[in-house]
Amino acid sequence: MTVDRDTRAVLAQNYHPLDVVLVEGEGSWVTDVQGRRYLDFLAGYSALNFGHRHPALVEAATRQLGRITLTSRAFDHDQLAPFALGVTRLTGTDMLLPMNTGAEAVETAIKAARKWGYEVKGVPAEQATIIVAEGAFHGRTTTIVSMSTDPEARDGFGPFTPGFRIVPYGDADAVAAAIDATTVAMLVEPVQGESGVLIPPADYLTRLRALCTDADVLLVLDEVQSGLGRTGTTLAQELSGVQGDLTTLGKALGGGILPVSAVVGRRDVLGVFTPGTHGSTFGGNPLACAVGLAVVDLLEPGTLQERARTLGVVMTAHLDALVAEGLLSSVRTTGLWAGLDVAVPGLSGRGLCEQLAARGVLAKDTHGDTIRLAPPLTISEEDLTLGLDVLGDVLRKAAR
Ligand code: PMP
Repeated sequence: MTVDRDTRAVLAQNYHPLDVVLVEGEGSWVTDVQGRRYLDFLAGYSALNFGHRHPALVEAATRQLGRITLTSRAFDHDQLAPFALGVTRLTGTDMLLPMNTGAEAVETAIKAARKWGYEVKGVPAEQATIIVAEGAFHGRTTTIVSMSTDPEARDGFGPFTPGFRIVPYGDADAVAAAIDATTVAMLVEPVQGESGVLIPPADYLTRLRALCTDADVLLVLDEVQSGLGRTGTTLAQELSGVQGDLTTLGKALGGGILPVSAVVGRRDVLGVFTPGTHGSTFGGNPLACAVGLAVVDLLEPGTLQERARTLGVVMTAHLDALVAEGLLSSVRTTGLWAGLDVAVPGLSGRGLCEQLAARGVLAKDTHGDTIRLAPPLTISEEDLTLGLDVLGDVLRKAAR
């Protein structure tokens, strides 16, 4: 059954999806209920970095479905340690705490930072502040929207959680000025995804790293969207040569098969969690761990990261040409990830995405004239070029 007028009546309208009803996906392609095929240039907001139903991930999930799928954390299982070892090895971190969604990982990092501030740093109880960036997207829970600067995400949802100080994104001086004795952490995306792939100044993360180290403040990097290959490195933070004290992972950690998230980082910080202080029924379940470990196996050789870099060069060349033609006003790319601003009068980001869908390419507008491209890292160069040619074609026709 498809989402028709009757089913819309029972579905809360918190999304405004494109007029496409998908029934199948394989690699970079999806098929709708009418049998039409589309190239997926959104890839589940980077959750489908390995494409739809990657054989190694389907195999890992299927194998685990035939064994055991849930124990709760009341009992350990044989997939948990390999998963934790694999993800910490891949990310060069000490320790992992498994959760399910990106928002839960961010909530977990906030709780860790506050408890670390109280127990280790000696910040008086209830006084902790966390510095966050304007325009950030970290999820949808009440605490997370408490630090959002997006009115749609906030209006009507208060009262909010206190303890956040908001500074402009990309401005390390503003962070320096905001740090005081109550500051326990700076929480930031290495690249702002939902804001339209905003890339901060080249020295931003290195300056934040130095400021945080000097002030004994935790640098918490939200890599739910930027992490796991998208930027051409395993983590976006590697591009700046820094390491977060805590890093949140989600989306691609479940390979587009199921929700899997985690906080990885320093042992002395995640060590603040003792039995009974935090948890989740499904976090670290056997099925999630089996898939997450298969994701680690896909990323560990580094070939997909290299692909993201190589294909990213191809994508950037195409997009730069559209800027030169005056069809786009600006383009921001890192790895196989792009934010672009449409410069065709009368064509909104949403309008462009609708026309792209009509021509068999799926992408997502973020706001206004901005759209985001995040094709699977496994996409062939031919398919990538095909989709980008359609984009150029649609823009040129609209500009006539
Ligand atoms: N952090 C970032 C950087 C994200 O992009 C997102 C999702 N777009 C989240 C957190 C929240 O993840 P989830 O939707 O899985 O809760």
